[in-house]
Amino acid sequence: PHGRVFNFSAGPAVLPVDVLERAQAELLNWHGSGMSIMEMSHRGKEFESVIQKAEADLRTLLNIPSNYKVLFLQGGASTQFSMIPLNLAKAGETVDYVVTGAWSKKAAEEAAKYCKVNIAAKGDNKSLPPVSSWKLSPDSRYVHYCDNETIGGVEFKSVPDVGDRVLVSDMSSNFISKPIDVSKYGIIYAGAQKNVGPAGVTIVIIREDLVGACRAEAPTMLDYKIHVENDSMYNTPPCWAIYVCGLVFEKLVKLGGLDAMQELNRQKAAILYDAIAESKGFYNSPVDPAVRSLMNVPFTIPSSPDLEKQFIKEAEKAGMLQLKGHRSVGGMRASIYNAMPIEGVQKLALFMKEFHAKHA
Ligand code: PMP
Repeated sequence: PHGRVFNFSAGPAVLPVDVLERAQAELLNWHGSGMSIMEMSHRGKEFESVIQKAEADLRTLLNIPSNYKVLFLQGGASTQFSMIPLNLAKAGETVDYVVTGAWSKKAAEEAAKYCKVNIAAKGDNKSLPPVSSWKLSPDSRYVHYCDNETIGGVEFKSVPDVGDRVLVSDMSSNFISKPIDVSKYGIIYAGAQKNVGPAGVTIVIIREDLVGACRAEAPTMLDYKIHVENDSMYNTPPCWAIYVCGLVFEKLVKLGGLDAMQELNRQKAAILYDAIAESKGFYNSPVDPAVRSLMNVPFTIPSSPDLEKQFIKEAEKAGMLQLKGHRSVGGMRASIYNAMPIEGVQKLALFMKEFHAKHA
């Protein structure tokens, strides 16, 4: 319906059709207000109800303990790369970073501007360094890792046990794809534009006691305390993006929460990884089966880069778009976030089989 394609983009990415339809229906006149969410004051009671409901539903979904704050910020996950060290460490203090791909590398490089970064472990884009091998510094202010590397397609399958250190996680590309134990974390952050909603809002979940120690010289906008004290409304928040995220949260709550979502995500990912395995080497996944991402599935056709180009072109003709791998790694990548229907994944798996048969 609506002439929509199956969109495998890594982000901004597919959103649920019923969420888009609801946003469309409410666009011109939100709940009798005579205007859209995009057009109204963020200080009014209407928008206040929107942001409060979004937070409440997210708290339900992730079972967020009451000693954690939820923030809706701007600047993308990339701004968190600097906000985290500026709030959690003084100049010269040590912070631990686990580098498992392009995004955690960027995070570590940014933090190095503000404090002493210890690279506690490094991945190779194919596997993840076991937590027991991490060389954490005894005096680190926090341990940062990326739960799902969007480009490499490697994903942690459990919470890394870092003892009583403060654990900080970039969950940009797998946020709300599965239940998580928030109490194990100091900070969880995610840009919304992959698994949640539109670009423009970054969600931060932060343990209360970590708020309030921002460096004095840091920009006001990078101080968690300012945003906590002002309920994410110190300045004009990304109202529309928060509203759409709220619609997604509401939908997921109604669908039965994140256990149900995780089960579906497992099924979807298995269809693609099975298709790769069944091709007996025609397609290859570079990633260790133990840490394969349920969200981003990179794969190649090792025998021929030309066939990869053809694959992407023909898939596009068949209504499956954005399958080109990240420019830094090439090949293909299917991003199959929450909102990707299982039918899209089934169609891609069938297409893979047929393409293989034609070119074997
Ligand atoms: N972290 C991860 C894991 C990502 O996938 C991305 C975006 N691709 C970022 C951080 C950067 O996010 P943003 O564009 O919102 O700054």
